Amino acid sequence: MKNSILIVEDEKALRETLEYNLTNEGYEVETSADGLEAFQKAHTGNYNLILLDIMLPGMDGFEICRKIRAEKNTPILMLTARDDEIDRIVGLEVGADDYMSKPFSMRELLARVKAMLRRVRLMQEETAPVAVEEPSKEVLVFGNLVIDSIRREVRINHQDLELKPKEFELLHYLAINRGRALSRDKILEDVWGWDYTGESRTVDVHMRWLRQKIEMDPSQPKRLITVRGAGYRFEG
Ligand code: CA
Repeated sequence: MKNSILIVEDEKALRETLEYNLTNEGYEVETSADGLEAFQKAHTGNYNLILLDIMLPGMDGFEICRKIRAEKNTPILMLTARDDEIDRIVGLEVGADDYMSKPFSMRELLARVKAMLRRVRLMQEETAPVAVEEPSKEVLVFGNLVIDSIRREVRINHQDLELKPKEFELLHYLAINRGRALSRDKILEDVWGWDYTGESRTVDVHMRWLRQKIEMDPSQPKRLITVRGAGYRFEG
């Protein structure tokens, strides 16, 4: 079945370019230029992914994102025009899965969309019940931190943490590579499946979110260590 994508963008030229390119890639595409209408569509429809502009008539992208998130997990890729919008996506946790800064290359956007859809599919496959032969190896314990990849749960001091899927994957990836310095590009490739460089800020953003959740003092991380000039390292 074709993946369906909702494009929410009030700039006509960009909306049409997105619609043309995504349709060409074989996606089923719907568009909206108005925030209220877009929310209604997202609310009643069943899309595999939503491309969401922020400055929109009717209702802005932040509010749409929060409202959608309150009711469903549809992946949301936000299209931002300004740095302070990125800060809000990052700081306020509106619930977007990813963002792209305008102007972006169409090739990069298509690669990102593809990677997001693939990740959702893999996760759905992973959540199907499978026989685990050696369950003990699937639970990583580092002092008070427990990473349980069977249940996809993370606990600190026996308290469950609410991690987004990508945060869990990133933490799990770093943990199984503990002690090794990993570059942002390597992390992007292995965790996000992107085979191109230049979006290392995505890694930094997720690292910041993770630190807020698992570090006692996120400004003095003890587990998620920045390796100057190299990337990141997990200390167990
Ligand atoms: Ca706009």
